[in-house]
Amino acid sequence: MYPPIFDGHNDTLTEIFHRAGSENPRTFHERSTLGCIDWQRAKEGGLGGGFFAVFVPNPESDNWDTSPYQWHPEKGYQIPLPPQIKQEYAEEFTTSIINLMNRWQAEYPEHFQLITSIDEFEPSLHSSAVTGILHFEGVEMIHADLSNLQSYYDQGLRSLGPVWSRPNAFAHGVPFCYPQHPDIGDGLTPAGKSLISACNDLGILIDVSHLNYKGFKDIELLSDAPLVATHCGAHALCPSSRNLTDDQLDAIQRSNGIVGVNFCKSFLRPDGNPDGACDHTEIVHQIQFLIQKMGEDHVAFGSDFDGAPMPDDLKDCSKLPLLMESLNAVGLSSETVEKIAWKNWKRVLADTWKG
Ligand code: ZN
Repeated sequence: MYPPIFDGHNDTLTEIFHRAGSENPRTFHERSTLGCIDWQRAKEGGLGGGFFAVFVPNPESDNWDTSPYQWHPEKGYQIPLPPQIKQEYAEEFTTSIINLMNRWQAEYPEHFQLITSIDEFEPSLHSSAVTGILHFEGVEMIHADLSNLQSYYDQGLRSLGPVWSRPNAFAHGVPFCYPQHPDIGDGLTPAGKSLISACNDLGILIDVSHLNYKGFKDIELLSDAPLVATHCGAHALCPSSRNLTDDQLDAIQRSNGIVGVNFCKSFLRPDGNPDGACDHTEIVHQIQFLIQKMGEDHVAFGSDFDGAPMPDDLKDCSKLPLLMESLNAVGLSSETVEKIAWKNWKRVLADTWKG
């Protein structure tokens, strides 16, 4: 029997929302063969909960996901940052997604439970419902003067990444590139710096995933909360611009923060090829490396289910026991596995949230 898994990042809300008008819709409460997470498969795989992201796609994109990588065996890939999107559009999209989440909770409370305080974490994790934390992946929906941040907090927002890999009023974002050091472009804007203080004051977790190196450094200097990367990997193993360099990992460790390991194939495979063969043992390698580098208190999962190409043998959350089995097989103690599975996330949330 494995401990329940709490996961740092999924795009399930956005994926299911996007499918609603398509020929292949799916729901959260019925088992599907589409996508990666629904309640049934979460139960089968031991997924107890995670951060549910609101991600606003560029309106001109017919696919909400990022464009396919043009990977080259010698050159890797270099994807420019997509254009900015409008605040009104992002706000409208966000309202629709939050409405969808509220419907899940109202119609199927035994399948989905949004939590907003640390006292709810363990009871919810051990309940029949999948536990959700509302996360914004890029905050285009927030006014640059932060005038609607409190309203989103009141609607349940407890975690945000100032920027997806796309510029906005707050930061610039890191383009998807391989091989590439993340030090590309400017750091936080003045509005971005105000956002960090406001998040510290309200107790909203700040996610450094998708930030470039200067943006990360700004947050390291400004924030008084643990540094958190909800869905990243180690640059030393796969030199993608989306992965964290050794000195960034040191900074996260010093802050008593955490890295949720991303399962995306192109951040796992050492050559960055998003279409190459890749199984779940690459995740195990990342976890072993990060434990050796930062210690077992700073490593967790951050799958990116429903938002990125997954390893060939871990296409959805029902396959998670395979990963747990391998963590045991490489000699991690049950205490260590439990920390990685959920206890480290609980500690960081307790140190960050105000209630
Ligand atoms: Zn992401």
